[in-house]
Amino acid sequence: MLVDYHVHVVAHGEYHYREEWLNQYLDRAQQRGVQAIGLVEHDQFKERIDWRLIEALKRTDLHIAAGLEIDFVPGREESIKRMIDQHPLDFVMGSVHFINDWAFDHPDHRAGFDALDIDQVYSDYYVLIDKLVKSRLFDIIGHLDLIKIWGHRPIKKDSLQHVQPILHSIKASPMVIEINSAGLRKPVQEMYPCRQIIEKM
Ligand SMILES: [Zn+2]
Ligand SMILES: [Zn+2]
Repeated sequence: MLVDYHVHVVAHGEYHYREEWLNQYLDRAQQRGVQAIGLVEHDQFKERIDWRLIEALKRTDLHIAAGLEIDFVPGREESIKRMIDQHPLDFVMGSVHFINDWAFDHPDHRAGFDALDIDQVYSDYYVLIDKLVKSRLFDIIGHLDLIKIWGHRPIKKDSLQHVQPILHSIKASPMVIEINSAGLRKPVQEMYPCRQIIEKM
């Protein structure tokens, strides 16, 4: 079964929840043989979501799920929980896009890698993923190894060694990891997560 649970209808704020716009996604999904689609905005755009429109566009031959992709930031657990409780969500994706205040996956902040110890960056990133998993707030972990986005690789330990300690907690949790092809279009040119991680799961 072909599914796509990572569709950002408003992208980074440049589009709107309009029937014609949403229908383009739904039509294309059906043309491509996708049987379930997850509309999942970044949480900073949650006010832009028209939940009733999503409900109104439901189709018999395409399952439509409504979700949020929420930035996991330690200390924000209570407000994340409230956010989840306040919206009619079918699923919640938790993602790490920030290390402290550094938006490491944003092209404007890519140079941040140059000044830092790459093994420390990997280790800081996976500490956050570990906390995300243990928070038990989410159903799906977004782009598990996003830290590789610009192609930086750790030196003292390999990528798998960095992620391995938390694979066990992921497996023991009710969460799933997404297989995300966006990385193929980024400098790293790999899916998130990489095949070796998928094979360990
Ligand atoms: Zn996303
Ligand atoms: Zn993301």
